[in-house]
Amino acid sequence: MTRVVLLALDGFPNRAVSADLTPRMWDLVQRGGRAPAGGTTDLPSSTDPGFCSLLTGCRPPTHGVRTTSWRYARLPAWAGVETPRVPTIFDACRAAGVRTAAMVGDDRGLLCTESADLRWPPDGVIPPGTPLDAHGYPMNAAVLAHLMAAFNDASLGLVFGHLNEADTMGHDHGPESGAARSCYRATDRVVGDVLEALAPRWAETVVVVVSDHDMQSRNSSEPIDPMTSNARGWWDACIPDGGAALVHLLPGVDPRTAGEALERIDGVETCVTSNDSLAILGAKPGRIFAAPRYPAGGFHGAPLTARTVALVGGGHPAVRPIADAIGSRRPHLADWAPTIAPILGIDLGRVDGVNLLG
Ligand SMILES: [Zn+2]
Repeated sequence: MTRVVLLALDGFPNRAVSADLTPRMWDLVQRGGRAPAGGTTDLPSSTDPGFCSLLTGCRPPTHGVRTTSWRYARLPAWAGVETPRVPTIFDACRAAGVRTAAMVGDDRGLLCTESADLRWPPDGVIPPGTPLDAHGYPMNAAVLAHLMAAFNDASLGLVFGHLNEADTMGHDHGPESGAARSCYRATDRVVGDVLEALAPRWAETVVVVVSDHDMQSRNSSEPIDPMTSNARGWWDACIPDGGAALVHLLPGVDPRTAGEALERIDGVETCVTSNDSLAILGAKPGRIFAAPRYPAGGFHGAPLTARTVALVGGGHPAVRPIADAIGSRRPHLADWAPTIAPILGIDLGRVDGVNLLG
């Protein structure tokens, strides 16, 4: 029976995938393939929009999850929703009778795993005694134990795993720090354990390894505050998300003109006006948007960090054509669900992403 394993390494930089630092993933790539320049995601290049794109096959304007900032304050309606408003790949599997598991190092709804048949943490609640990282997320080893159990369950068609430690280390110490590099190396060993556990049914298996975003370090520039560059009063609220920010445009303001004004703010690289009231800003490399607090090391959100890991391996016949496809065209996070769907024999319905196999 075909088995798809989707492994997401939170905050893992594509540039860290190398023969020296990540030999197990490198070996997977040699036998499978990768997007050499990585895959892509939308702005803000942050966790929640990225995972919702990965697991729904839709992009933020459709699934509605625009920012990860809701963790610090309730989101106003103009800034989107907190969980996706479209079905997930787990819903589509359930409808088709394909059993799924989701073992994740994050207990929040953002990973939208409610419809998976097997879930850890159970009901999204981290069991007492679970070893946690510095940000309170389950350690990779804790997730791995539950992934291993899922690999022993031959009834599962899709197994989703999420490992968080690289994100925490990147935020706290910076993505190029010794601590982060040790974490990348250790994460690769966890991936190695996963690959070993998959070996007995390798010929039926597709393994996809992604990350949700890259990570960068700040330069010494002042944080960008769009609210202090608002001479004409065209916008009235800003929600920072690291190297990106959501800006609320007032009714009657021309989004194009406002977008041009927003793009002229020092440190802003790009402005995408998504609808009449929402503009999404992306900062230049090294720049961060003004926020109540900042990570000590790395951050994400900007165009620079909208780069994901994108690797494929396994012995299933679909692996070679996927490897060829991503070798020549960078996959968007939303492309993975529609690529996996036909392999699992499920119907996602209409989504924004494309099947990489055409
Ligand atoms: Zn993340």
